[in-house]
Amino acid sequence: MSFENLNIIDPLSQALAKEGYITPTPIQMLAIPHLLKGKDLMGIAQTGTGKTAAFVLPILQRMSEEHKVPIPGVPRVLVLAPTRELAAQIGQSFATYGQFLRFRHTVIFGGVGQWLQVKVLSRGVDILVATPGRLLDLMNQGYIKLKGVEFFVLDEIDRMLDMGFINDVRKIVSALPLRRQSLFFAATMSPQTGEIAGRLLTDPVRVEAVSQASTPECIEHRVFFVDQNNKHPLLLGLLKQQDMKRVLVFTRTKHRADKVALMLTKNRINADAIHGNKSQNQRTKAMNNFKSGRLQVLVATDIAARGIDVDDISHVINYDLPNEPESYVHRIGRTGRAGANGIAYSFCAADERGILRSIERLTQMKIDVTAHQYHSNQAKNAVAVAAEPVPNKSRISPRSSRPKSSYELGLRKSYPVRRG
Ligand code: AMP
Repeated sequence: MSFENLNIIDPLSQALAKEGYITPTPIQMLAIPHLLKGKDLMGIAQTGTGKTAAFVLPILQRMSEEHKVPIPGVPRVLVLAPTRELAAQIGQSFATYGQFLRFRHTVIFGGVGQWLQVKVLSRGVDILVATPGRLLDLMNQGYIKLKGVEFFVLDEIDRMLDMGFINDVRKIVSALPLRRQSLFFAATMSPQTGEIAGRLLTDPVRVEAVSQASTPECIEHRVFFVDQNNKHPLLLGLLKQQDMKRVLVFTRTKHRADKVALMLTKNRINADAIHGNKSQNQRTKAMNNFKSGRLQVLVATDIAARGIDVDDISHVINYDLPNEPESYVHRIGRTGRAGANGIAYSFCAADERGILRSIERLTQMKIDVTAHQYHSNQAKNAVAVAAEPVPNKSRISPRSSRPKSSYELGLRKSYPVRRG
């Protein structure tokens, strides 16, 4: 996929071309289409994933739909960042990507005199990037009013909380107009960041970036066409024949996760399952055993896997393909971390053939087919209705089975995961 597929306007495409950026990073690919439609967004992404351009590009594009003369002290865009370095980098990104547009931006932060910052603000800026303390200072002195904010970005909120900015952030958020597009980025989520997201965002799209190290180049992707009833022996065969040190297996349901873990244990493979029906204690124990190498295989559902932070997972096996193609990207992002090579195997039965095609479309990648003793031509060639999930109890309906975020489980608000 290239930036052209994202319907980016010419002035932005030119700036991207000048920077030499042709292919969007996964977070850009997942976030930009929703942001261009005006959706709120909850992004789980670290620095280095291309997250800045993921919000700067669509904001600039949406701003340019309506020309407004900047009013002194009343920005249209407010980006909050925890540190002056990050704020400066974000400001630089607005300058770089917006070089062929005529928007004014400025960056304000503490630790330096305010005089110059006030002077720039008084000339009128469209885009304001700020650290929370200095922003509040200047708001209290009447130099900045947030009533004109149309786009609000809270970047690295987890770091802001660590730095004790929570009350400042709350005050700033309460001064924002209700009609606005809000974007929220955290490197990792905690109950506290979840709570802020819940208050800040309206019906947000949730996207999670995989780190650069997990881009497809360092991961070998393979698909095994197999009938549902042969998935057990196929998995067992692979585990016995190949040298697989630390294997994360994904199933579509909790019940199937338990069944697979039990089958492996019966065949003397050290395995356990983690999913939403297990207690926190059980999950922690399984995770620790997996980390220490006592467990060779951890079987997980998509939600449970969100908390897994293990670097050297040698193989990700999609025992079932996920219902949403984006989940494939998240799942395989668990292997090949920190520049290591990873292997992603996907078992595809006839009723998963359709989703495999969606995954290949999303990732712009043809996944290599592996020959094996349980190969199913029926699965490989399935089309139309035969390639769609069977709607019965064991093969759950798309609605109930779509991956839910941990926040959906813990908080009242709903965070739909959408197709890109
Ligand atoms: P960030 O995660 O926003 O800090 O970005 C990390 C680095 O990736 C920055 O130096 C960006 O300039 C660069 N970058 C952002 N988007 C792309 C892209 N699509 N292709 C290549 N590099 C990019």
